Amino acid sequence: MMSTATARGPSEIVLPEVKMNIHLPTKPVPAVVVRNELCTFKKAAGFVRHVEIDIGGTQMIGECRPGQALGVIPEGTDKNGKPHKVRLYSISSPTRGEDGKGKVIAVTVKRTIDEHWENNKLFLGVASNYLCDRQPGDRIMVSGPNGKRFLLPKDHTGYDYMFFATGTGIAPFRGMLIDLLESRSQSKIVLVMGAPYTTDLLYHDYFLRMAGENKNFTYITAISREKQNDGHDRLYVQDRVRTERDRLLPILAGPRTLIYICGLAGMELGIFQELALNLNGEALEQYLECDREALSDIRRWNRQMIHKQVRPTRRILMEVYA
Ligand SMILES: Cc1cc2nc3c(=O)[nH]c(=O)nc-3n(C[C@H](O)[C@H](O)[C@H](O)COP(=O)(O)OP(=O)(O)OC[C@H]3O[C@@H](n4cnc5c(N)ncnc54)[C@H](O)[C@@H]3O)c2cc1C
Repeated sequence: MMSTATARGPSEIVLPEVKMNIHLPTKPVPAVVVRNELCTFKKAAGFVRHVEIDIGGTQMIGECRPGQALGVIPEGTDKNGKPHKVRLYSISSPTRGEDGKGKVIAVTVKRTIDEHWENNKLFLGVASNYLCDRQPGDRIMVSGPNGKRFLLPKDHTGYDYMFFATGTGIAPFRGMLIDLLESRSQSKIVLVMGAPYTTDLLYHDYFLRMAGENKNFTYITAISREKQNDGHDRLYVQDRVRTERDRLLPILAGPRTLIYICGLAGMELGIFQELALNLNGEALEQYLECDREALSDIRRWNRQMIHKQVRPTRRILMEVYA
């Protein structure tokens, strides 16, 4: 099916057909960790690792796209003696994989480190720490791939892109960016990456280098607990719509732009508010259908209003998780 065009650009966004659940979590298959390296700065408060996994022994070779997720089933049992449940990790490699053959894929994993609710003792998330602790050569059990909605369109050259990421929400955008740039697409691509501190930025040097080498790619950071390098005070990703309005509004108002949002659940609210505050008429309607009453008091929107009084259109693609 082809996408149809209207005066305001493509009315239908056709996503590629992808395979899902080739291996179910109830029947996971072995894969091998081949690389595991820190991808935050050494002094970051949290720990995020780029983990590459050889899926050569599975039916998933060549079938994993950025925007889909890999299932990881940690070894051992939970406190009730049952096998651990599957956890999902967004695929951060491009469609060709890290190896060019779709046999080695990457995930970007943040160690979950917390306090136990009951006794305030250290709580270590099961799967994230399991995966971050694996060494090259270690075997892990995987399932997937999962997801079919958070993908680049089939004809990805026909669009421009605004990517908003917080934390490990950057994972799919690394892969998507490589897919776009390697296809020599002329699409305009803007990535806004949010993190609490500069040291928490992921793949930062890589994105800086890509922005230097590709005129159609703009990389912008938003640091929420520090002053920005450009002199602005603390910022969340959505604030960049306002502070970078000269660069971003022409792209956002364009008829072929898609907005992708990935990261912490809740981040979409602020982005929707900034869109509504900075765009109007058709430019806004291509992303959000808002009740008239909602538009009269944008700053008071809350998460319960999303999908009710404030409805994202198909031009907004979201993958958010707790
Ligand atoms: C579509 C999708 C994509 C994802 N992509 C990524 C990704 O790219 N990178 C990534 O790092 N994560 C990603 N996640 C999240 C990931 O799946 C896991 O949820 C995350 O890694 C935590 O899993 P865990 O096993 O380490 O933690 P768990 O052991 O499952 O614990 C999770 C949380 O439960 C709470 N908790 C549970 N029990 C207790 C207790 N007794 N005391 C205190 N707190 C407790 C803690 O707050 C903790 O944060 C994604 C999730 C989804 C749904």
